[in-house]
Amino acid sequence: MKQPANDVKQRLSVSGVQRLAEHQHTTDAARVDAETTTNENTPCLNPLPAQYTNPATFTRGTTRVQVRLPAPFVGNDEVVLARLGGSLQVPPGTPIAGFDFDGTLSNRRASNGVNKWRSTYWDHLFASSRNMVRALAAKGFAIVVLTNESVDRYKNSKPMEEQLGPKCQRVAGWAADVGIPVLAVVAISKLAVSGGHSFHKGPKGVAGNAAMWHTAEALLGMQSRANPGSFFVGDAAGRDGDHGDDDRRLAASAGVPFYTEDEFFLGDPLSLI
Ligand SMILES: [Mg+2]
Repeated sequence: MKQPANDVKQRLSVSGVQRLAEHQHTTDAARVDAETTTNENTPCLNPLPAQYTNPATFTRGTTRVQVRLPAPFVGNDEVVLARLGGSLQVPPGTPIAGFDFDGTLSNRRASNGVNKWRSTYWDHLFASSRNMVRALAAKGFAIVVLTNESVDRYKNSKPMEEQLGPKCQRVAGWAADVGIPVLAVVAISKLAVSGGHSFHKGPKGVAGNAAMWHTAEALLGMQSRANPGSFFVGDAAGRDGDHGDDDRRLAASAGVPFYTEDEFFLGDPLSLI
């Protein structure tokens, strides 16, 4: 079965957390105090370009739709995105630890009578993931969330806001609980393409589906693509029962190793990265 029950995931993932914790104590040089990286006084080295706005402007034919997003999210016709948890310090060569969101970091569920597409419900899909992501940040990885939320089918702002708003809140809620700087990028259109790569992970673009990854690299001020050590974790891996192989293709398109959510969070991440 692709996704074992959460209690199984929690039980199996303990060793990975312990190994990470032990490793942290033995790599003082690599340790970064998460508290310092979330200091609001830390200068933002890479301010978000002015093309991303809130309200975001989405093009529908000859009309432009103004879509209000939950702060601090901003967006354009390609993505909505936010720096969550403070500004991210990105020295040259910083590797990216990239994660899909739904089915990888969090479940997507209905709550309080609201269907799952409009619910703000989030959780930690794996008991270990919160500590693992914090440990990765402490080791010097830039934590990036790349997730789909297409609103192509909508022509008016209200349904767009009713779907994108909760998605942004779910990612922001998760990031606030993890408590480290996170760059979150949400692909809002299957039609948007840059350099032959689609932003949405679903389409099979001419060159691939890594436009969100490339956007994240640019926003992090990275000069060269696919810094050594970077990787991407997702649950759309082409396994039996998976809804697709979008995440595996994104990693291939970006030129970085790919891990399924189970491989990563149930295993020993230090043996993988
Ligand atoms: Mg997913």
